[in-house]
Amino acid sequence: MNDRSELLSQLPLRENLRGLSPYGAPQIDVPIQLNVNENTHPLPDAVVRAISDEVVAAATTLNRYPDREFTELRARLADYLGHELAADNIWAANGSNEILQQILQAFGGPGRSVMSFVPTYSMYPLLASGTDTTFIAGTRDEDFELTAASAAAQVREHRPNIVILCSPNNPTGTALGLDVIEAVYEACSETNAMVVVDEAYAEFSLAGTRSALTLLADRQRLIVTRTMSKAFALAGARLGYLAAAPEVTDAIRLVRLPYHLSAVTQATAIAALKNVDLLLAEVEAIKVQRDRIVERLKELGLKPSVSDSNFVFFGGLDDPEAIWQGLLEAGIIVRNNGIPGTLRVTAGTEAETTAFLDRLAELLDAAN
Ligand code: PMP
Repeated sequence: MNDRSELLSQLPLRENLRGLSPYGAPQIDVPIQLNVNENTHPLPDAVVRAISDEVVAAATTLNRYPDREFTELRARLADYLGHELAADNIWAANGSNEILQQILQAFGGPGRSVMSFVPTYSMYPLLASGTDTTFIAGTRDEDFELTAASAAAQVREHRPNIVILCSPNNPTGTALGLDVIEAVYEACSETNAMVVVDEAYAEFSLAGTRSALTLLADRQRLIVTRTMSKAFALAGARLGYLAAAPEVTDAIRLVRLPYHLSAVTQATAIAALKNVDLLLAEVEAIKVQRDRIVERLKELGLKPSVSDSNFVFFGGLDDPEAIWQGLLEAGIIVRNNGIPGTLRVTAGTEAETTAFLDRLAELLDAAN
């Protein structure tokens, strides 16, 4: 134990937080950052200007608390999502991480459980411990796929209070069929449990992949979460949101901090939503690089998963840690999630993607 952890252990910390580490992909300052699935394309100048103008206007109001109900933002998010959603169906917070935390605060807590299917987004267990909710790790098959029958059977066995389905899944990249979501929802109906579909990467999905938004009508316990961190290139602005029945947003209002969404955040998100077309044009460019990575990895004899997201998860590596290190030495950081034989890479700009693929080919060559 080092000095600080010794000192930490003297504090009256909650028992279920003892020994935990905070979430943190390494933030290493290298030229090519492909490790946390950010949008690698800078915001278009016109959007930067629109945000600046909107934030300047908001600055004149900063002596007052912001609109606690962020009414304009909710209306614009509903418009963006479509599917006949209205402002009453929408809730937003500082990143979809905070949205998920609020969901666990409202529907989880001591004596309750949340289930997800690993490997999946590593924040779910941490959000569970932060809210004193028991985390249940469901399983996937050896290709990290999840079938409707398996998911529903596991839910019936464990009877969680909340199920989180990550689609497209992080770190594996593939979206779930709607049949999986329907089957899990049906299994959850037996116990009145909530079903959350985390669609952080939905805008990057392959043609034909359908969003869980299409299932919301008549499903009171279904929540779809989204974020502006990925497709909208606004990870630094911190804006996540959910779509659900209006009474779900009423449940969240019971746990949210008053005025949790600053006037600056609201202004930034509104400006971005006024420029959806410009921003989503970048999504298409990223998908081109994503598909290029998948094709090239196959040529290199590796096994990329189907990607509905802005990153590619790939197996077939003898020594992922050595490849990770070799890439880092060339100024390129990717993600090692600790899953044997695999790494995960975010789709970069064209130049970044080329640098990654070329260096990877060299490293594989040298290893053979
Ligand atoms: N869900 C998934 C699956 C993610 O990968 C991430 C970010 N890496 C988030 C949610 C949280 O994103 P944010 O808080 O920036 O909205």
